Amino acid sequence: MSEPKPTPQPSPTPPPVSARKTDALYVRYMKAFQDSSEHTSTCPDCQGDRPCVQGDPLHERFTRLQAAYLARQSKQS
Ligand SMILES: [Zn+2]
Repeated sequence: MSEPKPTPQPSPTPPPVSARKTDALYVRYMKAFQDSSEHTSTCPDCQGDRPCVQGDPLHERFTRLQAAYLARQSKQS
Protein backbone atom coordinates (compact mmCIF):
# COMPACT_ATOMS: atom_id res chain seq x y z
CA MET A 1 0.00 0.00 0.00
CA SER A 2 1.31 3.42 -0.90
CA GLU A 3 0.18 6.74 0.39
CA PRO A 4 -1.78 8.88 -2.05
CA LYS A 5 0.06 11.99 -3.06
CA PRO A 6 -0.99 15.23 -1.39
CA THR A 7 -3.48 17.06 -3.53
CA PRO A 8 -2.63 20.46 -4.95
CA GLN A 9 -6.29 21.12 -5.67
CA PRO A 10 -8.86 22.41 -4.66
CA SER A 11 -6.59 24.73 -2.69
CA PRO A 12 -8.58 24.68 0.55
CA THR A 13 -8.09 26.93 3.49
CA PRO A 14 -7.28 24.51 6.30
CA PRO A 15 -10.04 24.66 8.88
CA PRO A 16 -8.98 26.44 12.05
CA VAL A 17 -7.94 24.05 14.79
CA SER A 18 -9.75 26.11 17.37
CA ALA A 19 -13.13 25.45 15.79
CA ARG A 20 -15.55 23.55 17.91
CA LYS A 21 -15.96 19.91 16.92
CA THR A 22 -19.63 19.98 17.81
CA ASP A 23 -20.35 22.87 15.50
CA ALA A 24 -22.76 21.53 12.87
CA LEU A 25 -21.60 23.83 10.13
CA TYR A 26 -17.99 23.08 10.95
CA VAL A 27 -18.65 19.33 10.85
CA ARG A 28 -20.31 19.61 7.44
CA TYR A 29 -17.49 21.81 6.24
CA MET A 30 -14.93 19.25 7.38
CA LYS A 31 -16.85 16.41 5.76
CA ALA A 32 -17.05 18.30 2.49
CA PHE A 33 -13.35 19.08 2.72
CA GLN A 34 -12.57 15.42 3.24
CA ASP A 35 -14.85 14.23 0.44
CA SER A 36 -13.46 16.78 -1.94
CA SER A 37 -9.81 16.13 -1.20
CA GLU A 38 -10.23 12.37 -1.08
CA HIS A 39 -11.85 12.44 -4.48
CA THR A 40 -9.17 14.73 -5.86
CA SER A 41 -6.40 12.45 -4.60
CA THR A 42 -7.69 9.63 -6.77
CA CYS A 43 -8.97 11.60 -9.73
CA PRO A 44 -6.54 12.87 -12.37
CA ASP A 45 -9.19 15.13 -13.87
CA CYS A 46 -9.77 16.96 -10.61
CA GLN A 47 -6.02 17.36 -10.09
CA GLY A 48 -6.04 19.47 -13.21
CA ASP A 49 -8.16 22.53 -13.73
CA ARG A 50 -11.19 20.71 -15.11
CA PRO A 51 -13.05 18.84 -12.38
CA CYS A 52 -14.93 15.74 -13.52
CA VAL A 53 -18.71 15.33 -13.36
CA GLN A 54 -18.43 13.29 -10.18
CA GLY A 55 -16.00 15.59 -8.43
CA ASP A 56 -17.56 18.87 -9.43
CA PRO A 57 -20.46 18.79 -6.92
CA LEU A 58 -18.06 17.72 -4.17
CA HIS A 59 -15.76 20.65 -4.79
CA GLU A 60 -18.68 22.99 -5.17
CA ARG A 61 -20.17 21.85 -1.89
CA PHE A 62 -16.86 22.31 -0.16
CA THR A 63 -16.45 25.80 -1.60
CA ARG A 64 -19.96 26.74 -0.53
CA LEU A 65 -19.56 25.42 3.02
CA GLN A 66 -16.18 27.04 3.35
CA ALA A 67 -17.62 30.39 2.30
CA ALA A 68 -20.54 29.98 4.71
CA TYR A 69 -18.25 29.01 7.53
CA LEU A 70 -15.78 31.82 6.96
CA ALA A 71 -18.60 34.34 6.55
CA ARG A 72 -20.04 33.29 9.86
CA GLN A 73 -16.62 33.45 11.54
CA SER A 74 -16.09 37.01 10.38
CA LYS A 75 -19.55 38.02 11.59
CA GLN A 76 -18.88 36.59 15.02
CA SER A 77 -15.55 38.27 15.62
ZN1 LIG B 1 -12.92 13.96 -10.27
